[in-house]
Amino acid sequence: MTKQLYQMTIHELNKLLEDKKVSSGEIVESVFKRIESVEEKVHAYITLTYDLAMQHARDADGRILRKEAGFLTGIPLAIKDIICISGVKTTCGSKMLENFIPPYDATVIKKIKSQSAVFAGKTNMDEFAMGSSNETSFFGPARNPWDTERIPGGSSGGSAAAVAADECIASLGSDTGGSIRQPASHCGVVGLKPTYGRVSRFGLIAFASSLDQIGPVTKDVEDAAILLNCISGFDPMDSTSVNREVPDYTKALVKNAKGLTLGIPKEYFVEGLDPEVEKAVRDGIREIEKQGAKIKEISLPHTQYAVAVYYLIAPAEACSNLARYDGVKYGYRSDCKSNLREMYEITRSEGFGPEVKRRIMLGTYALSAGYYDAYYKKASQVRTLICRDFENAFKECDLVVTPTAPAPAYRVGEKISDPLSMYLDDIFTVPANLAGLPCISVPCGFNDKGLPMGLQGIGNLFEEEKVLRCAYCFEQNTDWHLRRPFKDAVSAC
Ligand code: GLN
Repeated sequence: MTKQLYQMTIHELNKLLEDKKVSSGEIVESVFKRIESVEEKVHAYITLTYDLAMQHARDADGRILRKEAGFLTGIPLAIKDIICISGVKTTCGSKMLENFIPPYDATVIKKIKSQSAVFAGKTNMDEFAMGSSNETSFFGPARNPWDTERIPGGSSGGSAAAVAADECIASLGSDTGGSIRQPASHCGVVGLKPTYGRVSRFGLIAFASSLDQIGPVTKDVEDAAILLNCISGFDPMDSTSVNREVPDYTKALVKNAKGLTLGIPKEYFVEGLDPEVEKAVRDGIREIEKQGAKIKEISLPHTQYAVAVYYLIAPAEACSNLARYDGVKYGYRSDCKSNLREMYEITRSEGFGPEVKRRIMLGTYALSAGYYDAYYKKASQVRTLICRDFENAFKECDLVVTPTAPAPAYRVGEKISDPLSMYLDDIFTVPANLAGLPCISVPCGFNDKGLPMGLQGIGNLFEEEKVLRCAYCFEQNTDWHLRRPFKDAVSAC
């Protein structure tokens, strides 16, 4: 069966567009037909922007005729609903911002617009990106396209589900403690978190500012490199963005791993790791070894503290970032008119969901006088030790390879009343955020229930090229990334 347009990748469509075999308008129609047929089951989107997409498609088609096209020209992308697009509702998955329409574009959006890409819509997410399952979304969770009884992961679950279900060609997510990689792993797609500072955070609604990064969620590694090329770079609007040249990441994509040494940390292959995930990841490592990589067992001794450190630092930063939602300047405001203090209290009680409130309380506690030294300061000190673990590791290896998540996707509702067990599941993803390192999740197999599993590659600071190279070499020698859910629905579109 020939591929439908909505099933294709950025690089495949770019070629068809340049050869004038299709128009951007046709691609948009194909993607929206697909959305019509599967979105009811997946709920990947909070807002769909069909009219805007058609307008963008017309601009893109004009640009292609003028031979001014870039790689993303005319390609329908889905954007996590935490990234501001001027004039498009941006809810952050929360009642607090249910009707918020930003008056400006995030820097990544400006960059993408400058290539005349098409915005298909804003994707579902955990409220303020706090969660690992999408169940904290005020709008109800997105579902895993491989089994719609299961979670797609979080917090960028809508982005990963939209890519996996072919409801867009590629997507942008954000990753504070795993929110790009974990849903990519659960949905069988590629997710890349760049080095902290590589991509501007301007226009990304803040969760934990020392950890947040925007990154691509795509159908394959080449598309991740193409999107990263577009969104990377220094931005004077983000004081933490780094002024460093952006290489052409697609040049790093070679099909062998010669000269690379992979470090396999023993602390990531321990009790609690699902045996099928372990087998898939170990098979994956063997495959990369076959392609020329050297394998070395390494140790990251402070891994066991990473979750505790993350769940002090992230809520501490979040409680301060979320102080701005007071009902005065923008967002939800309660009807209460008795006095200002009560208006603040009731607005925040009604506007935030339970997980966001839990994080605000945890963060406020960790920062309060008398507890600061014992919690926030101690966590910051241990964060330094975690960074040092990686610094030492990268003296012995080029990349650290691990599972992305300890187990495949669980059922909706299974863990929602047990936040601690959900937090513990972030064990393999949070260390790279704490150390600011670039990392990727690529599909590495399916378990006996047909659920996807992911292999994670972590690189040294600004070594996205090695991360992409290793992932590409693995992907091109396997076919996990070619599998798609909803086979029965394909011919319907
Ligand atoms: N699951 C983690 C959390 O709930 C990570 C979220 C994220 O990366 N935005 O904090």
